[in-house]
Amino acid sequence: MNKHLEYALEVASESKCRHKHGAVVVSRGQVVATATNQRVGDPEEGWRKAHIHAEHAALLAAGDRAYGAKVYVARLSRTGAPAESKPCRKCERILEKFKVVTVVWT
Ligand SMILES: [Zn+2]
Repeated sequence: MNKHLEYALEVASESKCRHKHGAVVVSRGQVVATATNQRVGDPEEGWRKAHIHAEHAALLAAGDRAYGAKVYVARLSRTGAPAESKPCRKCERILEKFKVVTVVWT
């Protein structure tokens, strides 16, 4: 497995959400930001509003360095094994906005 994807899995293990996701932003071979999915609001407003996805959070953390970067997104199942992951529509649009070149999902 790619070392950055392995790192994304490590990051995912730190997520406090039920569905654990981790994202790593790599620019010119350097890790510039990492993030897990996380709670950002009041869950009573609805799950979707109250959570930010790992790839979204990582791109925000990377800021300008996210432009043209590679993003590795990993998901851990409840048993702690790598699980299949794919972007939601919202994250797809955010990734496009940052002109992310390559995105790798588990
Ligand atoms: Zn998403």
